[in-house]
Amino acid sequence: MLGNLLLDRGIDCVILERRDRVAVEGRARAGFLAAHSVRVLTEHGLAAGLLARGKTHTSCLFRSDRGEFTLDYGKSGLGEPHTVYPQQELVRDLIAEYLRRGGEIRFGAEAEEVAEDAAGGRVRVRVRGGADVTGRYVAGCDGHRGTGRAALTARGTRTARWDHGVSWLAVLAAAPPSLEAVGYALHERGFAGHMARTATVTRYYLQCPRGTDPADWSEDRIWAELATRLRTAEFGPLRHGPVLEKAVVDLRSDVLESPGAGRLWLAGDAAGLISPSAAKGANLAVLQAELLARALEGALAHGDRTGLARYAADCLPRVWRAHEFSHWMSGLLHGPADPHREGTDSGTGTDSGTDSGTGEGDAARYGRALQYARLESLRTSRTHQDFFAENYTGI
Ligand SMILES: Cc1cc2nc3c(=O)[nH]c(=O)nc-3n(C[C@H](O)[C@H](O)[C@H](O)COP(=O)(O)OP(=O)(O)OC[C@H]3O[C@@H](n4cnc5c(N)ncnc54)[C@H](O)[C@@H]3O)c2cc1C
Repeated sequence: MLGNLLLDRGIDCVILERRDRVAVEGRARAGFLAAHSVRVLTEHGLAAGLLARGKTHTSCLFRSDRGEFTLDYGKSGLGEPHTVYPQQELVRDLIAEYLRRGGEIRFGAEAEEVAEDAAGGRVRVRVRGGADVTGRYVAGCDGHRGTGRAALTARGTRTARWDHGVSWLAVLAAAPPSLEAVGYALHERGFAGHMARTATVTRYYLQCPRGTDPADWSEDRIWAELATRLRTAEFGPLRHGPVLEKAVVDLRSDVLESPGAGRLWLAGDAAGLISPSAAKGANLAVLQAELLARALEGALAHGDRTGLARYAADCLPRVWRAHEFSHWMSGLLHGPADPHREGTDSGTGTDSGTDSGTGEGDAARYGRALQYARLESLRTSRTHQDFFAENYTGI
């Protein structure tokens, strides 16, 4: 994304990607694009695929033992929709367009170290087993375990971090969607989610205890648990299909206090990881690519570094707002975070009592009651629906 935006502004760049092209273009993760992301992609001529094949979603559905209701978020808040378009297809489009525009990308090139040469105004990236690359700036867009983040935190940049204490078994099934909309199911055995991806592929989520091994979840067990939590006996069956992928995602969030300094600037998961509970990660990455491209253009084309100096101030309020909503959403889906976890990042402990394996204590009962109060307010309060819609689709 950033590569395309830089080329658009006449700024040369080289992209280093440690994996091969097939792996990058086949990695299924996100699917929900906010209206802002679609606008940015469209403005820069990068939206042909998503406009042709993406699906517009304007509602989502909630289920619990108290029944189900549909929330038409396209008619609340700012009235904005989501566009559902699998991340790997978007990545494929972006790579094709970047190459078509003359961009250079080196696959199988892992950045190992970023070193600034203060005197010469250049920055050098050491590539494992390959030639170094030097440039005037490095944009670390290499995810939350990448070299960009490591280089910045090594200089003392602090991180604000939260462990939601919950994990999801993320399942990708070669099965058509079973619901018209995204489905969120609250259940005493834990949260279950249904997200359409394409006409033939659906993503499902099952809340599971921390440390779960995906190998323990056979296809039969996955479909049986989904049927229980999505209450198919009451609301109708799910459309089955082979499980293409299953992985456990620990819900963790963090934000770097400052997403860059000197000649190293970060965007996307490198600058902050957001739990997938509100589907914000890829959308924040698009936002940051847009802001960083503008700031780098100022510095490189006009010798004006004020955009870079302002990059943190431009990003962080919107990043934090997405985190706040994601946190709120996590409370809705799993119950409130366990207060005893506060200030820790160890990842130990269980969630707030909504797991299948845990007995329900006083705190878990309290948490579950809050969860249902939040759900009921969302069902009945127009104000709450507006809040939800604005934050759910906004970035
Ligand atoms: C199961 C799941 C579902 C999700 N659903 C949604 C959703 O619906 N909506 C949403 O907005 N977000 C969602 N997300 C989050 C979203 O996928 C990420 O936030 C997004 O991919 C971040 O983009 P990025 O470019 O910063 O990082 P990445 O997409 O991780 O890209 C980083 C790239 O850098 C490469 N790399 C890493 N280290 C190096 C190195 N040292 N040298 C060279 N290359 C390197 C990696 O191979 C990778 O290709 C989801 C995430 C998960 C796990």
